[in-house]
Amino acid sequence: MATSEIISVGELLVEIMRKRVDSPLHSPDDFVGPFPSGAPAIFADQAARLGHSVAFLGAVGEDDFGKCLLDRLKQDGVDTSYIARVSTVATGVAFVTYFADGSRRFIFHIGNSAAGQIPEPTAGMFVGAKWLHICGSTLSASEQMRQTCYEACELATAAGARVSFDPNLRPELLGGEEALRHICTPVVDKAALVLPSFTEAELLTGVVGAEAACSALLERGVEVIALKRGSAGCTVFAEAETVSVPAYEVKVVDPTGAGDCFDAGFVVGLTERLSLSETARLANACGALGATAQGPMEGAAPRAKAFKLANLADGDR
Ligand code: ATP
Ligand code: MG
Repeated sequence: MATSEIISVGELLVEIMRKRVDSPLHSPDDFVGPFPSGAPAIFADQAARLGHSVAFLGAVGEDDFGKCLLDRLKQDGVDTSYIARVSTVATGVAFVTYFADGSRRFIFHIGNSAAGQIPEPTAGMFVGAKWLHICGSTLSASEQMRQTCYEACELATAAGARVSFDPNLRPELLGGEEALRHICTPVVDKAALVLPSFTEAELLTGVVGAEAACSALLERGVEVIALKRGSAGCTVFAEAETVSVPAYEVKVVDPTGAGDCFDAGFVVGLTERLSLSETARLANACGALGATAQGPMEGAAPRAKAFKLANLADGDR
C-alpha cells in the first residue's frame, strides 16, 4: 500500500451544535448537525484538501455518524484504510454551544465510544511518511488513546518522520496542570513542531508568558513553535528567527476547527519547504478560512483558495 506523507491519529467525532448562542447544554433547545469533526480529523481533511497524501488512524462505529465521517474524509482525499469500523460501540460525538463572550462548552463522548478504539499503529504505516500529527485532545481522552499516540510517535520517528503536536488540551477532560504536562511529555520530547495557543503554551511548560514558554520549548529541543493568536495571527519561534505574521481579515462564522486548519497549513508549508514566514501565511490563511463556515471541518479550504489568500504561488499538485 502506498504510504502517505502525513499521518494523523486520534478521535473521529461528529459535532452536534446549538443553533443559537447563549443556549446552555443543560436545557432543551435546537441543535444542528452532525458535522464531521475531531481535531485530528479536521487536520487530516485540511491537509488533504491542500493536495497532500494523508492517512488517518482511528475508528468509527457501524452507524450513520460513522458513515458521515468516512464519506467526508474519502471525498476530500484522505486515505481511510486505517480507520476501523467497530460494531460494539457508537461513533464518537461532541455537543457544543457558544456564548456571546466567545467562550464555548462541550460534552464529549470520546473514550467510551468508537473514537476511543483506535487500531494499533504499525511500523509499515510510517515507511516514507514525513509527518505524524498528534493532538492534546487525543492524549486527554483516555489512557488507551494516549498509549496509542505514544506508540505512533515511536514508530514514526524510528521511520524518520517528524512529529507535529497541537496541545489542544481539553480542560473538561483533564485532572490538573501537573497531570497534563506529564501526559504531554512523551510527545513533546519527540516533537519537531508544536502549535499551541497562548494559554496552551503556558500550561504545557508551566512558564508564565507565551514568549518565555515558547523559548522553553525551543530549549527542550522542539525545532519550530507556531504560537496561534486567533484574530492576531501567529508568531513562529525557531532557533534562527522569530516571525510574527498578522491574520487575514475574514467574516467569522464558527471559529472551532480554525486551529486544526492552521496546523495543516503549517505542516504543508514545511513539507513544501516554504520559508517560515510563507508557511505562517499559509497557516493563517487556512485558519482564517476555517472560521468562515459553520461546522468545524466545513471551512477547510481547497488548495487554490488558501494559496491565493496567502498570496503564494500555487505550484499545482
Ligand atoms: P481551535 O482550538 O478552536 O481550533 P485555536 O485556539 O487552536 O483554535 P486560534 O488561535 O483561535 O487557534 O486560531 C488559529 C488560527 O486561525 C490563528 O492563528 C489565525 O491564523 C486564524 N484565525 C483564528 N481566528 C481568526 C479570526 N477571527 N480572524 C482571522 N484569522 C483567525
Ligand atoms: Mg486549538
